[in-house]
Amino acid sequence: MGIKVLLIDDDEDDFLITRDFLDDIPNKDYILEWVSEYKNAMLQIQKENHDVYLVDYHLGEKDGLQIIQESVAKGVSSPFILLTGQGDSETDDRALKAGAVDYLVKGSFSKYDLERSIRYSIEHSKNLRQIQHLNVALEKRVEERTIELANTVKKLEYTNQNLKDQVRVRKIAEAALRESQNLYRSIAKNFPNGTINVLNREMEFVFVDGRELLELGFETRDLIGKKISSVFTGEKGDYIISQFKKVFEGQVLNFDVGWDDRQYEFHTSPLPGPDDEINQILLVAENITERKKAEEEIRKALAKERELNELKSRFVTMASHEFKTPLSTILSSSSLIARYHDETAQPKRVKHVERIKTNVNHLNRLLNDFLSLGRIEEGKIHNTPVWTNIVEVCEVIKDEIQQMATKEQEIKLQVEGDKREIFVDEQLLKNVLMNLLSNAIKYSPNGKDVILKLTFESKQVKILVQDHGIGIPEIEQLHLFERFFRAKNTTNIQGTGLGLNIVKKYLDLIGGEIEFDSKLNEGSKFTVILPD
Ligand code: ADP
Repeated sequence: MGIKVLLIDDDEDDFLITRDFLDDIPNKDYILEWVSEYKNAMLQIQKENHDVYLVDYHLGEKDGLQIIQESVAKGVSSPFILLTGQGDSETDDRALKAGAVDYLVKGSFSKYDLERSIRYSIEHSKNLRQIQHLNVALEKRVEERTIELANTVKKLEYTNQNLKDQVRVRKIAEAALRESQNLYRSIAKNFPNGTINVLNREMEFVFVDGRELLELGFETRDLIGKKISSVFTGEKGDYIISQFKKVFEGQVLNFDVGWDDRQYEFHTSPLPGPDDEINQILLVAENITERKKAEEEIRKALAKERELNELKSRFVTMASHEFKTPLSTILSSSSLIARYHDETAQPKRVKHVERIKTNVNHLNRLLNDFLSLGRIEEGKIHNTPVWTNIVEVCEVIKDEIQQMATKEQEIKLQVEGDKREIFVDEQLLKNVLMNLLSNAIKYSPNGKDVILKLTFESKQVKILVQDHGIGIPEIEQLHLFERFFRAKNTTNIQGTGLGLNIVKKYLDLIGGEIEFDSKLNEGSKFTVILPD
């Protein structure tokens, strides 16, 4: 197919020259058409039937540049070559700017120049079309990419927003976590009167805190990672570990543990992980020393109260018995005395007066015992030692007791060793010896002698009270100093079972001791040992 060329030129000569040129070009088939005025030219161009347009610059009322400009603007794809006058270089420039692909200077181009320009222009516009095509494709691609990009940006923005939200949420969660961690730490640190601990399966401290830690002279860092066996050793450590093992098996245990002079209650509980496996246990050690002390005091007070109650009831029982006999004796003796009118009855009178005296003494002793016991219990009796001549004290007591004794009974005072004064509470010592001596008389109904023997040794003084009376059955001797104790062989002899208990308490106050030795039906020996 030939190359269709449209020449737009108002000069027919130019058409003829151009036609000749084109006809002359070997091996090329050019079809040249010609229009001479603007309107026609535009019509032809619109049809886009030509491969190239040769446009003359001078075209009557319009110029060639205008045609080129308008056509290019309308999107005509075939190339335009402007034909200009000689030396019109400025027009050439404008031609290229208007959209012409090439220009030829009329009268100075050869048929080869024309052929080359046509070829070049067609080639150029072909390339241009391709480029345009590519450009369109590219633009489309760019547009697609731009949309894709916009979508991606949108997604990114969304993701970014999401991430921001997540970061915000995480920050809030972190702050909440920090706050709760601080709270837990503060709770643990200020945990009063004890410690909070977490231990692992190796029985090592994973967490330790609490006010008590300082009291024990520890710091958290001293214990973290340490084994419980390094804190509690020996049997105590073994016991604690055996208890903790049970807690790792799921038990909740509370048990007491002593630490120096402190008492702790260990509250333990398993700490199951998310998979319910128990790899840690919680130990809250509570200092219960004060509570234990208070409990102990309450227990003691309770025991004391119970004892007092018992004392009261025993007193009532005993008093009703012990007071009745002497009182009825006194009553009968006094009414008998009232019946003796004449002189001859004097010995009988004396006998009854003696009986009254004995029973009054007995009642007096009974009351004294109770009063003493009450005063000891209340802590009203104090040890007030002075330098005392105890030989003299013993002589006075001997005389007093002798009066209470029967005629057949004699109290013999013996003194051995270097006599000296000793530093002792005289009244308390007197009470002790009176009690022992009156017992010696009371429990020697056969009227055998009673010995009161003082022995001054180098660093102590011994006072022995010995009788040859009924003695104390061996199996009962264990309870001798207990309150209300009375041996089985005393059923017919009056007594309260308080005397020896009082003796023991007085000697505790004085700082003395008492020993005894007794054989049933042979007699008893009581030895008071006083420190010098
Ligand atoms: P009481 O003499 O009022 O019964 P005590 O406390 O003085 O109370 O004595 C307790 C008990 O010890 C007496 O009941 C008696 O069984 C025994 N006992 C004390 N002294 C003697 C003694 N010298 N000989 C035999 N038994 C004694």
